[in-house]
Amino acid sequence: MSLNPFLRSLLYLIGGDVAIEVGIELLNSENEDITDEDITENIKDRIEGKGIDFEPDDSDILKLNTVRKTLYKLYSEKLAQFRRIRDKSTGWFIYYWWHEFDFLESILLEKKNYVQRKLRDRLQYEENNYFFICKACEMSNMKYRFDEAFELNFRCPECGGPLEAQDNQKIIDFLKEKIVLNQNVTISKEFEE
Ligand SMILES: [Zn+2]
Repeated sequence: MSLNPFLRSLLYLIGGDVAIEVGIELLNSENEDITDEDITENIKDRIEGKGIDFEPDDSDILKLNTVRKTLYKLYSEKLAQFRRIRDKSTGWFIYYWWHEFDFLESILLEKKNYVQRKLRDRLQYEENNYFFICKACEMSNMKYRFDEAFELNFRCPECGGPLEAQDNQKIIDFLKEKIVLNQNVTISKEFEE
């Protein structure tokens, strides 16, 4: 099973190549919780003989401790969750892990909605206002709303030149286009390719 490119990059940023391997294991064991020991063994089986070595200073190619640290990184980024159970015979805790990659989807959706809201606010602002600019100072990018221009007697405060109405149709068209584009951004439900 492979990870979708976005998730792969995110995992890499959080914990490097080990995090990608751990992410693959969490996806593979989606229907059952998996222990950190099992994750370590599975990754070792998978990378055995491929020249990959996550522990350059050690004879082992991957240590349980490295996997645990990575799992905690994913946990603190809200991408993984665990429950622990005390082993009655040894008295030690056993940690069972699962991924929370679906949470990512809600973050993306939230971001998309935020952008959508900002664009709509800006569009509304452009549509509801007349803007005035000084053509002599056009490079300064100053825009005045009607009430502001009125206060200034339609005179540019910079150079004293006349403030003229600006046609903001291009900006409005541009914003509408952006809104449609943003709406069509599809967020994949499946994280597998
Ligand atoms: Zn001016």
